[in-house]
Amino acid sequence: MVTRRSFIQTVSNGIVYTSVAGSGLLVACQGKSDQSKESEKQADQRKEKKKGKLGIALVGLGKYSEEQLAPALEETNHCYLAGIVTGTPDKAEKWKKKYDIPEKNIYNYETFDTIKDNPDIDIVYVVLPNSMHADYTVRAAKAGKHVICEKPMALTVAECDQMIAACKEAGKMLSIGYRLHFEPYNLEMVRLAETKTFGNLKKIKAENGMNGTEGWRVDKELSGGGPLPDVGIYCIQAVRYTTGQEPLAVRAKEGPKKDKEFFKEVEASLTWEMEMPGGVIAECKSSYEEDMSLLRAEADKGFFELKPAYGYSGQKGETSQGKMDLPKVNQQALQMDDFAEAITKKRPTPVPGEMGRQDVKIINAIYEAMKTGKRVEIPA
Ligand code: NDP
Repeated sequence: MVTRRSFIQTVSNGIVYTSVAGSGLLVACQGKSDQSKESEKQADQRKEKKKGKLGIALVGLGKYSEEQLAPALEETNHCYLAGIVTGTPDKAEKWKKKYDIPEKNIYNYETFDTIKDNPDIDIVYVVLPNSMHADYTVRAAKAGKHVICEKPMALTVAECDQMIAACKEAGKMLSIGYRLHFEPYNLEMVRLAETKTFGNLKKIKAENGMNGTEGWRVDKELSGGGPLPDVGIYCIQAVRYTTGQEPLAVRAKEGPKKDKEFFKEVEASLTWEMEMPGGVIAECKSSYEEDMSLLRAEADKGFFELKPAYGYSGQKGETSQGKMDLPKVNQQALQMDDFAEAITKKRPTPVPGEMGRQDVKIINAIYEAMKTGKRVEIPA
């Protein structure tokens, strides 16, 4: 018990001394008032930093959210990490502390729909296993939020249509997490092709893969397929943005499996060809059993290529005239900032739902070609 008599407070140089009754103890609560002033100041600074920015809620705190998106949101100018949606209470606690997220902005999958009542959240970013993208995008739109959905947009074109329609109905924007549209080396490939710096394109090679995968990625119900929708999608994207064209038809072949038991539900690797209008053939390859990252364009008067091409950083580029030397960027920060700016300026996003839908259509045509061994035309 602390009586008035025993409560001796001396404030000197920011140090508060308190003597506790009967104990003769002098407790030093060092700099308490300064400390609270400091945390108030920090809170004010954080508030100031968030002013005028759009609030993003990440849904699914897995590897990509934790290691790429959340750190990128520390570097963004037009949006910030305002909330989280997670099924794992430990993660909620950890993220709350690390990113100073108020309790009222923390949701789980059961409470997700109540996000509609939270004005702090402008954008919902769906970073869940592939088969959950459609449901959470539609629900986010119904909650009146703009949506970024990770690749692949969904498992079927019908799901993509529902996602696009839900966002349209709600008057909200939808974009897909295609970060390479903001990466200078990949943009240089587009520029070199567009300006015909090396003449007309003759052939494209796109390869993306890694040695190893785990978890839901080999569970067909959750992933929709193996490396094709996960990392092969970057090859499809690269061919589309480098040529500026849409493929007419595809042929595909599944690769052999080193570990048949592990890959019992999905392909371990595949090769496929895309026929582009004007005769360019894109030769593509994707794998969970081999590291590769290549985008190579061959044209009448030379070549231009990226190797590695698709990572979060570390792109290297070369042309028949020499090496590329371009700035390093935070792709995810640029991608999210661009979407926030598109919303506030009411302009289209360069990576809309329709772009994701086209990739899903191509992926499904590739699977059909792989299964039947036949040339499959891409439906209009
Ligand atoms: P992880 O497996 O690391 O994380 C997925 C998270 O989703 C889990 O941690 C969990 O979060 C949540 N989740 C909810 N339900 C399930 C379930 N049934 N099974 C597993 N997880 C579940 O995956 P990634 O972060 O690597 O990938 C997530 C999405 O992001 C995928 O669609 C992927 O294609 C995409 N991606 C995009 C990249 C890019 O470069 N654009 C790079 C990597 C991934 P919680 O515990 O919080 O509920």
